[in-house]
Amino acid sequence: MSTSPSKIQLIQPDDWHLHIRDGEVMKDVLADTARQFARAIIMPNLKPPVTTVDLASAYRTRIEASLQSLGVHSFTPLMTLYLTDNTSADEVRKAKAAGIVGFKLYPAGATTNSDAGVSDIQRCYVALEAMQAVGMPLLVHGEVTSAEIDIFDREAVFIDQVLEPLRKDFPELKIVFEHITTKQAAHYVRDAQTGEKNTLAATITPQHLLMNRNAIFAGGIRPHNYCLPVLKREEHRIALLEVATSGSPRFFLGTDSAPHAKGAKETSCGCAGCYSAFNALGLYAEAFEGVGKLDKLEGFASFFGPDFYSLPRNSKTITLVKQAQSIPAELPLGDATIVPLRAGETIAWSLA
Ligand SMILES: [Zn+2]
Repeated sequence: MSTSPSKIQLIQPDDWHLHIRDGEVMKDVLADTARQFARAIIMPNLKPPVTTVDLASAYRTRIEASLQSLGVHSFTPLMTLYLTDNTSADEVRKAKAAGIVGFKLYPAGATTNSDAGVSDIQRCYVALEAMQAVGMPLLVHGEVTSAEIDIFDREAVFIDQVLEPLRKDFPELKIVFEHITTKQAAHYVRDAQTGEKNTLAATITPQHLLMNRNAIFAGGIRPHNYCLPVLKREEHRIALLEVATSGSPRFFLGTDSAPHAKGAKETSCGCAGCYSAFNALGLYAEAFEGVGKLDKLEGFASFFGPDFYSLPRNSKTITLVKQAQSIPAELPLGDATIVPLRAGETIAWSLA
């Protein structure tokens, strides 16, 4: 990696947590991601969810057709399956053989299209045992869903109620704590005792590095800054920035970019999710530069993800230049539009 005040050259990054949905809208969002990233982990929360290897293969074929129609030949989707109460050990072994990179645990009702999620983690123990045995990572949406727990506390409570017991029962299971948002999660992952081989990591989104919860209410309700887990207080943002820029291999890039049409966000019950894919790398560069740690960006964006998933690092390089880029107010999304993160504003870093 080489950095100067106006230019960063780094090994091409990957996005370890991405939503692209399905059908017509897919190619609009894939183009943004494929422009910056070599690979991305594709989340399985479609309607109906991607629960089997056969469904994932069919989804991959549709993604590849979409990439082809865009003329993109240098992007690899990494497929995941949606863990349910009924996932069998057989399906786990089949998934491993088919190159599926992980299973995603959504507590039932936690976020977009998660109704088919896990109602009680104990019901998944057969599948989790098989995952531990074959070295299949578990990707967790780390929030409890009980209505009596305050929405700002759900991640911290998840650590105590679910994650810590889970790690005790499955000490060799590789776990990615997805899109962490709190000081508690950042410190839990940073300080966790694992075996010789590290088994715990976390992804962090650009919005959680750049914004605190005031951004949801700045001068009025801001639906495009609403995502789940929801933005937290400033002290949490600072803790996330600290671990992301620390050089620890346990923290890596996962945008959680999630496309919702403008109308589905600007409504009486708007969807959760930020569309950060348009200039995700510029957003991360801004966050790292803000604390004088641009030299730590390459590890976070390009090395620690593949290392944790035991995949090869990319070899191509990309260059970010300090050249202001205006983020459009809206982008096309099928026959609708989408409002990207920081719409109408200017971002300092752009892809060369
Ligand atoms: Zn997500």
